[in-house]
Amino acid sequence: MTPLLSNHLGGKWQDGSGPGTPLFDPVRGNELVRVDARGLDLTAGFAFARTQGGAALRALTYRERGAMLAAAVKVLQANRDAYYEIATANSGTVKNDSAVDIDGGIFTLGTYAKLGETLGDRRFLLDGDAARLGKEPLFQSQHVLVPTRGVALFINAFNFPAWGLWEKSAPALLSGVPVIVKPATATAWLTQRMVKDVVDAGIFPAGALSVVCGSPAGLLDALQPFDVVSFTGSADTASRIRSHDAVAQRSVRVNIEADSVNSALLLPGEAIDSPAFDLLVREVVREMTVKSGQKCTAIRRIFVPESLYDATAQAVAARLAKTTVGDPRNETVRMGSLVSRAQLVSVREGLTLLKSYADVLYDGANTSMIDIDPAIACCMGPTLLGTRQSETPQLHQTEVFGPVATLLPYRDAKQALNLVRRGEGSLVASLYGSDVSALATAATELADSHGRVHVISPDVAQLHTGHGNVMPQSLHGGPGRAGGGEELGGSRALNFYHRRSAVQASTAVLATLQ
Ligand code: NAP
Repeated sequence: MTPLLSNHLGGKWQDGSGPGTPLFDPVRGNELVRVDARGLDLTAGFAFARTQGGAALRALTYRERGAMLAAAVKVLQANRDAYYEIATANSGTVKNDSAVDIDGGIFTLGTYAKLGETLGDRRFLLDGDAARLGKEPLFQSQHVLVPTRGVALFINAFNFPAWGLWEKSAPALLSGVPVIVKPATATAWLTQRMVKDVVDAGIFPAGALSVVCGSPAGLLDALQPFDVVSFTGSADTASRIRSHDAVAQRSVRVNIEADSVNSALLLPGEAIDSPAFDLLVREVVREMTVKSGQKCTAIRRIFVPESLYDATAQAVAARLAKTTVGDPRNETVRMGSLVSRAQLVSVREGLTLLKSYADVLYDGANTSMIDIDPAIACCMGPTLLGTRQSETPQLHQTEVFGPVATLLPYRDAKQALNLVRRGEGSLVASLYGSDVSALATAATELADSHGRVHVISPDVAQLHTGHGNVMPQSLHGGPGRAGGGEELGGSRALNFYHRRSAVQASTAVLATLQ
């Protein structure tokens, strides 16, 4: 039997009472560890987090909580090697892709540690200035933001077991709100190990950081009115969470990050040998292959002027052909595997669907694989699809969560922007061009339907942070299909974990709040 990972709830490590669900190496196929949450007293565990963890965190200032985040960064950095080993074994990722998750998570935690320093020795925040309520300036309204007295429940997706943990936990803990994280089962090991290292280091008060691995059954039932839920995953699960009784009847605040059919758009007027064209091609290939395309922000649709359709297909295909795929332990491999057999099956199904509406411009099925048994490993080569029938609905609606993208030509700028919007709300769109005014216009035109617009002009070629990289300074989330959520965005992330209240009082009383 492989080891059973323990849950941390109610301030103690507890094993589930069932046999456990196995986690696998998606490349070699062997069982690694098991997770199990059966028999846990969730109601008591949530209550402990609220009363013990929450009270202890709220007694501290933002600066003190920021210092705890900084201490957690040190613990995680000291254990980085172990995290890389887990990621290789359980997620099948090459070193660079593991870094996006592991180092991206640690960097985000560090960013919020610094924010704590900036917010200083306060225990609540002011929201704007006081406003007069009458002719006399004596009686005024001052909005304050105070940490919610509930728990933050995080239900995470399989593709970012490290970053997903810290990008949510950092703003919650900094706000003074205790965290209970439920990682996706397939890759729960890395989340559990990071939480274990930080809990065992004794940095946070008891009840501040908990982890429940395994089935999500009963988690939502344990929610109370001042709790918040932040979910990342599929639209189906999102709608189940939204309509859950606890959420609907107890007004539990919910943030949803769901799927998204993100775009890359080359603006009109760029030639084949222009820097903007080259930047688009590089970014598309990077987005298709990093983490085998298992990024919620990855480019799924590529829009180029009609005259550049063939040239783009050739340029992307030429670069994809250089992508080596296989066992991430082999240093010549650039792209590892999908996280599980279930994902491989799902991506193959999605690809088959898209192929009935688009041509194969580069076929990943012909990729020769390095050091793997194709009957076992969940590896697949990257595939570029394309069609001149750009309006085909399925191509704008189908998210294939793997190394697959579709090239679509447009007639003019107006049609291009309309096609991008057919994603019905996305996490990110990237724009490529050299005309600064056209780029700015397109960015603002797309801002209403995108949480982030990533604008790449030749002057930022060496500086830009990447279409799919989520930086803690910028908003992560998107309207409509993308779930309607908002995460990160610097100090904006703290809003979700605070309650806003208007204090109406004399100017003298309000002065003491400053
Ligand atoms: P999923 O099936 O919805 O699972 C996501 C999480 O929800 C997992 O932790 C899962 O636990 C849990 N879960 C499943 N059923 C639940 C229920 N009835 N109640 C409460 N929790 C439940 O999603 P997935 O297919 O693993 O994830 C891939 C999707 O996530 C993609 O569509 C992708 O676009 C999206 N995603 C979005 C973002 C973003 O930031 N917007 C980031 C990454 C991924 P188990 O694993 O134990 O089933």
